[in-house]
Amino acid sequence: MSVDGYLETLRREGRIVVVGASLAGLRAAETLRAEGFAGTLTMVGDEPHEPYDRPPLSKQVLLGKVPADHTVLPRRRPVDAEWRLGAAATGLDLAAKQVRLADGDAIDYDRLLITTGVRARPWPRELEADLDGVCVLRTRDDAIRLHHRLKAGPRRVLVIGAGFTGSEIASACRERGLPVTVAERGPAPLVGALGGVVGEVAAELQRAHGVDLRCGVQVTGLEGDSAGRVRQAHFSDGTAVESDVVVVALGATRNTEWLADSGLGAGPRGIACDAGCRAFDVRGIVTDDVFVAGDVARSPHPLFGYQFLSLEHWGNAVSQAEVAAHNMISASADRRPHLWMPSFWSAQFGVNIKSVGVPPMADQIIVTQGSLAEQRFTAAYGYQGRVIAAVTFDQAKWLDFYERQIEQAAPFPPEFTTVDRRPEGLQPVPAGFPDPSLPSHGPTVTLSGHSPTDRRVSFTPRRA
Ligand SMILES: Cc1cc2nc3c(=O)[nH]c(=O)nc-3n(C[C@H](O)[C@H](O)[C@H](O)COP(=O)(O)OP(=O)(O)OC[C@H]3O[C@@H](n4cnc5c(N)ncnc54)[C@H](O)[C@@H]3O)c2cc1C
Repeated sequence: MSVDGYLETLRREGRIVVVGASLAGLRAAETLRAEGFAGTLTMVGDEPHEPYDRPPLSKQVLLGKVPADHTVLPRRRPVDAEWRLGAAATGLDLAAKQVRLADGDAIDYDRLLITTGVRARPWPRELEADLDGVCVLRTRDDAIRLHHRLKAGPRRVLVIGAGFTGSEIASACRERGLPVTVAERGPAPLVGALGGVVGEVAAELQRAHGVDLRCGVQVTGLEGDSAGRVRQAHFSDGTAVESDVVVVALGATRNTEWLADSGLGAGPRGIACDAGCRAFDVRGIVTDDVFVAGDVARSPHPLFGYQFLSLEHWGNAVSQAEVAAHNMISASADRRPHLWMPSFWSAQFGVNIKSVGVPPMADQIIVTQGSLAEQRFTAAYGYQGRVIAAVTFDQAKWLDFYERQIEQAAPFPPEFTTVDRRPEGLQPVPAGFPDPSLPSHGPTVTLSGHSPTDRRVSFTPRRA
């Protein structure tokens, strides 16, 4: 059959399976139907719920402003699909084009989209992780549990890890009037995502809101009482804190284990794919019937030196899902690249934090507007003499302008004049990112160091 003939048949009566029924999976399904895919669509999701939104879980839901079951993602159009919810995919046979499910079923596909996202990294010591009161926050059920704990008025909450999720949880605790300690092994909150200069502002913000913030320390152990409830945490500096709720916010693990023996280029950093969202196999050869989108994907971006980016960003999941869905049912010439400008937002301690670009790539930072001390500013990030990212604290209206600067590879330090420029914004300073070999908790963009001039990437298939 000709390529055109195959595509026509695929679009009319083909079988598409989406594994991972959350934000990226839903948006892909909608796009497939909107673009005329009339075949069989099967949505496989291991959670029992229909797709819901995660950002409110650490914000409005913890504050009790929105019930967790009111976070269902709005549908942009009806999706005619068979929903296999509460069913985990456990294996993939690339040659047979078949997805295996935990319940023993197998589903055949012509095209597969993988959107299995990430999960919260648990506390590494199992016995301690099992103590009553030790929580994580990734799912709706996690949010319900944590909300109940906070509502019950614990004596003190300990948050381990001051990335975005940990910091937002601490913020919600303070807003509820709860005493909270935050332990971060890096030098400041958000340091992995935004660097040390902005991290210092985040630290000030936390302390000003009454957080007992402890940086440069690790939690070395959690202790329970005789009833198995968490009671105390011990730190690497010899101190301890009494706490009856401990939230482990140590970042995320990619949901790729089910692909271990599949032959796909999938591992702890995610599933490698090209800019058209086609997955690579372990040999680095691109597949033509397996696509990837969302938090689980890592793909090269020409604006950022063709580095493979893993992004835990809501907007990226939507955009990549739309591109993947379009490409799954399009001829090569009509396929589109996923060239989304990374962007992220967070609300914490009354401040609206937004970023565009890839701050962790930067070596320098300059405050182009406003002031760090006032916690209201715009900072541009530079790498090798060009603008690579920008972060605003309560100044989001300027971000579009900086986005264009990044797209145009504008010189850094910026040559334009700005309103409200202060003396501190005259010279760039080191951005203060920690050594990447010592990851801090919760960066939301990771680079895996691959570019046409950098051949360090390697895949290690699992040995029997
Ligand atoms: C608390 C919280 C707050 C956030 N706040 C923000 C924010 O303020 N701004 C922002 O930009 N982003 C935020 N994010 C990130 C954003 O929610 C994610 O980028 C987005 O959810 C990614 O969507 P996804 O569909 O790729 O992955 P996910 O939402 O992780 O969905 C993946 C789905 O696949 C399922 N799955 C996994 N393995 C299997 C399997 N083997 N078989 C079947 N199903 C499987 C998972 O259970 C899950 O349902 C936040 C995330 C969290 C958790």
